[in-house]
Amino acid sequence: MLKVRDLVTHYGSSQALFGVNLDVGTGEVATLLGRNGMGKTTTINSIMGIIAASSGSISFDDVQLVGRASFKIANLGLGLVPEGRQIFPNLSLRENLVATASNHLNAANPWTIERVFEMFPELEQRRTSMGNLLSGGEQQMLAIGRALMTNPKLLLLDEATEGLAPLIRQKIWAAISMIREEGLSILVVDKNLKDLLKIADRNHIIERGKIVWNGSSDELRKDRDALHRYLGV
Ligand code: ATP
Repeated sequence: MLKVRDLVTHYGSSQALFGVNLDVGTGEVATLLGRNGMGKTTTINSIMGIIAASSGSISFDDVQLVGRASFKIANLGLGLVPEGRQIFPNLSLRENLVATASNHLNAANPWTIERVFEMFPELEQRRTSMGNLLSGGEQQMLAIGRALMTNPKLLLLDEATEGLAPLIRQKIWAAISMIREEGLSILVVDKNLKDLLKIADRNHIIERGKIVWNGSSDELRKDRDALHRYLGV
């Protein structure tokens, strides 16, 4: 579904990605792992067109994304849950969901506010609260709900559970499993390796702007050398 090939991205004259290759198959959960500052967010933002790629190719269902504006990439069916959540602070929780609601691809069973509230019942109780008054966990659930409201085919989660309490983290992982069962493909960045490997079909490790390892969760669990060398575990 998503094929990233030889992706190179710069910030001004400083090169951040040095030829990233990454795949997400239909209905798969794929991960992008790596230490801080290795290029995970840059890769996600390059896929979404938030940062312009300098060269390489990103194809989504055989459509080339490089050179397209972010909103056009979103309309093709890519939904982003950004690092830091970026909830609209001066809109209510409900308004945050309404703001992105669309069904560009005419999904048969589209995501609605009701379905988001079914997945995260705690959001329903807070529906009139302003975005800036929500807890970190509520904001993260809302950020996932907001991305789902665009009815994407591929969900990209950057730092899915960063800074969240263990109980909230478990809720986020359960929601991701549920979303996968709906047939969505997911690319996820997170540091909670143990939880991630339970749900991932395919993993990529990025080191200094290059993918240095890829394989299944079982393969990664067994590759102690890669775990130690690239992830410090
Ligand atoms: P983290 O886990 O800390 O978010 P990351 O793997 O997502 O890290 P990136 O944020 O993609 O890493 O950063 C990759 C490289 O690009 C780093 O060397 C970083 O310093 C650099 N970088 C990131 N954002 C910018 C920017 N806006 N301007 C210049 N350099 C940047």
